[in-house]
Amino acid sequence: MALLQIAEPGEDASPHQRRVAIGIDLGTTHSLVATVRSSVPEVLADDDGHVLLPSIVHYLPNNDVRIGATAQAAQADDPKNTIVSVKRLMGRSLKDIAYAENLPYDFVDAPGMVQVRTVQGVKSPVEVSAQILATLRQRAEDALLSGSVREIAGAVITVPAYFDDAQRQATKDAAKLAGLEVLRLLNEPTAAALAYGLDNAAEGIYAVYDLGGGTFDISILKLTRGVFEVLATGGDSALGGDDFDHRLFCWVLEQAQLSLLNPHDTRLLMIKARAAKEALSTRPSATIQARLSDGTWVNVTITAETFAAITRHLVQKTMVATRKALRDAKLGIEDVQGVVLVGGSTRMPTVRQAVEEFFKRAPHVDIDPDQVVAIGAAIQANQLVGNRHGDDWLLLDVIPLSLGLETMGGLVEKIIPRNSTIPTARAQEFTTYKDGQTAMAIHVVQGERELVSDCRSLARFELRGIPPMTAGAARIRVTFQVDADGLLSVSARETVSGVEASIDVKPSYGLDDEAIARMLHEGAAAARDDMNARNLREQQVDARRLIDATQTALSHDADLLDEAERARIETLLASLTQCVEGTDLNRIKQASTALASGTEEFAARRMNRSIQQALAGRRVDELAP
Ligand code: ADP
Ligand code: MG
Repeated sequence: MALLQIAEPGEDASPHQRRVAIGIDLGTTHSLVATVRSSVPEVLADDDGHVLLPSIVHYLPNNDVRIGATAQAAQADDPKNTIVSVKRLMGRSLKDIAYAENLPYDFVDAPGMVQVRTVQGVKSPVEVSAQILATLRQRAEDALLSGSVREIAGAVITVPAYFDDAQRQATKDAAKLAGLEVLRLLNEPTAAALAYGLDNAAEGIYAVYDLGGGTFDISILKLTRGVFEVLATGGDSALGGDDFDHRLFCWVLEQAQLSLLNPHDTRLLMIKARAAKEALSTRPSATIQARLSDGTWVNVTITAETFAAITRHLVQKTMVATRKALRDAKLGIEDVQGVVLVGGSTRMPTVRQAVEEFFKRAPHVDIDPDQVVAIGAAIQANQLVGNRHGDDWLLLDVIPLSLGLETMGGLVEKIIPRNSTIPTARAQEFTTYKDGQTAMAIHVVQGERELVSDCRSLARFELRGIPPMTAGAARIRVTFQVDADGLLSVSARETVSGVEASIDVKPSYGLDDEAIARMLHEGAAAARDDMNARNLREQQVDARRLIDATQTALSHDADLLDEAERARIETLLASLTQCVEGTDLNRIKQASTALASGTEEFAARRMNRSIQQALAGRRVDELAP
């Protein structure tokens, strides 16, 4: 047996029941839901035919909550209770959100994650996101539930590749709160690549350029045998379509010779600017008309050419970040096999041109850039619930025991934790231990224990030819990759010199069911050992405290005891003192109990004496302890 098997999902469902899963792109600006029907992925629209749900939640005083376009309408008039871009707050504390002072919200600095005070009380970003997700779940249920589909089997939700654990956990929590079964969180660039079927295409390096409403993300992906590895991510968390809106807004102010506007007029003109910007993607010119609160009319027309000129620096900024991400991945433009465009802002012709010029190849644009992430998520969700999609049946299997590396002191650094679904790939950086070290011994182990000696050794190999450097200066990136068949390959690369070494390992080689069960059992037993150690330490602390108290009492009030009583207490005290530093938890426990009960009468007499002394006009806190 190679791996712990997971029953194929849906296997035991009655044959006429279909398992339907959905993919959700929970975006900063827009969110949407997609599914796969009769092997064809499609996005789901609301009753009005709209596919994009603005990621906006408006809390009203009457306990009503509006989500999406109706919430967007309130943005100008009730900004405090209209939460936009909640994705930026997920899993973040107040100090993480440097730009918080520019936001109209009443923040509450809660431990862990910041919260927002609204007319409906304090809301966590998780709750706000859950409102958006629940709206999409409802949309999916309306569209998909029928006689043969009783419930949505689960959802794949996408997150930016750079999201950390806290942000991912917050996203999962929001989905749970929205009543969704999360099949998996999927990186947005990976979802986009899946939508284009790049997992079926030749292996290679792909760039995913995602310019959304408020963020720009560039990801460099490496595809090998169906495994997507994120080689580098980069971008700008404060650069997106909003900046193009703002640039156009400023241009309109100049043209109309307006100076500072009140917040309401500002928001109004920003909304008009956005509409004009979007129109300019397909039309040669657009007109911005608005009536300001003091009655002034604004009426300005802009051509696509002028718009391109006034926003050129913003497009250039994305290309600078793209160049940096490639450099981080130690790759050149010629290494990139394909470029995928994601995000509504990549509809701007100037953006497409800039990307094409930079990469010297036309990007993939066939799938709507607003929808590509949700579609990729739907394809993945469909595979995970066991509906075949073409021939690319993705194996759902897990690694039975953690895979790791030996580090200094014979300790194990886990790289891929137990129960990770495969295929999977993870990388970690290590460094040298000694000055001038030119080789590194890589020892691959498997198991749940902390010490190498308690785990199973899988393979050893050496990375040689590391240029001599001071200890800690070398950067050795070790990548563990487990393919769909459960085969592990480990590679190590010194990133400064580029020297490389690798080895293929069969992770569960020679490990039969019994061995796996035993190692898991030992892992659990080890956890019990740790627990026992803690109990012992706690019991010792209590015992030492009892010894101290008894000694103090004897030195102050021994006259309350007769010879025999005193001798008996001293014997009990001695037997506890004798065992307290040992490791026999039960013995310490018994001796402590004996001493405690053997001194009860003595304690009562001391208490009486204290009371009498207190009654004699002395304060209790002046008494001897
Ligand atoms: P996010 O991933 O941040 O939720 P989206 O991918 O939905 O963002 O992109 C939203 C941005 O795309 C907005 O700034 C919007 O104005 C812009 N956008 C949408 N359609 C167009 C268009 N036709 N031309 C230019 N920008 C557009
Ligand atoms: Mg997006």
